[in-house]
Amino acid sequence: MSIVKLARTEIQALTAYQAAAQVDDTVRLNANESPLVSSDRRFRRPLNRYPEVRPQRLQDALANRFGCRREQLLVTRGSSEAIDLIIRTFCNAGKDNIVMPSPTFSMYRHYALVQGAEVVEVEMLAEDDFALDVAATLAACTEQTRVVFVCSPNNPTGTPVSRADLVRLIEARANKSAVVVDEAYIEFSDEPSIIELLERYPNLIVLRTLSKALGFAGARCGAAIAAADVVNMLNAVQSPYALATPVVECIEDAMQSAQLRLADKNVGDIIAERERVMALIGNYDFVLKVWPSAANFFLIRVTDANLVMQRCREHKVLLRYFGGELADCIRITVGSVADNNCLLQALDTLAAD
Ligand code: PMP
Repeated sequence: MSIVKLARTEIQALTAYQAAAQVDDTVRLNANESPLVSSDRRFRRPLNRYPEVRPQRLQDALANRFGCRREQLLVTRGSSEAIDLIIRTFCNAGKDNIVMPSPTFSMYRHYALVQGAEVVEVEMLAEDDFALDVAATLAACTEQTRVVFVCSPNNPTGTPVSRADLVRLIEARANKSAVVVDEAYIEFSDEPSIIELLERYPNLIVLRTLSKALGFAGARCGAAIAAADVVNMLNAVQSPYALATPVVECIEDAMQSAQLRLADKNVGDIIAERERVMALIGNYDFVLKVWPSAANFFLIRVTDANLVMQRCREHKVLLRYFGGELADCIRITVGSVADNNCLLQALDTLAAD
């Protein structure tokens, strides 16, 4: 059964903004645009005109890349925008909640708080490589749970959530809530995308991004992939003209096969570096644990996180520290060979102390 009826009633009734018609070879006096081009940058579509309300060719290219039908995909400004749209669509302020594991990507919480939705967190099983506690997650869901977030591979732990756990969760929440599987890092993992199960699970929403494996963080482009009626509803909530002409054209070009082949090769290189650096880092005495990673980063536990952070900063290498339940832990993004060697040099100085 469709999850459209779980959305806020105002949103179910909302129709998408009716933008001014955009028809080639016509005199366009219908959108209060300038007739004059003042930018000397040249684009395939002139910059004095609004971009397409929704970028159709880009939508097709992304649907093709991710393996879904075009009507199952909404192009978003990074997957961050998709998280925001989903929460605003499904959660009534002051009434509904989202359920998410902990630790995970903090923007689920952030956008829930912006919307006035409650956040229910369920601890992952740290000693079991941060496995998802499916039973505890289901037990934490209430009548008011509208969205359950799962990130696989998970940020900041790097660990994938098993297909069996995801399916158990999605099936148990059928007709009750959306289950969002955030696959921001899936290209770095051996697991197949859960997009292949989309037809079977109408409560599944998958998030993808071009910011990580494809290397387009600066372009701000991602996608929400779900049943067509859910995509329609998210479409009505998203701003018209959300994606700017320069971005659309840049990503259209990136979706050409030669560019994609380069991106795929880069993923292979980053995975090889991940394996090299993780193996070397595990040899330092002050590194107590290196969690397995299916992403382009990995998490370590160290004897003194402050000291490691500070020494790396002195060597102009920035790492990520979260504190809280990850008090002794540091997340390290896999960089280029040269970047990673800078990191290892900085750590060598600690080992020599
Ligand atoms: N999901 C996860 C798990 C992330 O780590 C990030 C970025 N750090 C995002 C979504 C958002 O990425 P973007 O908006 O660039 O697509």
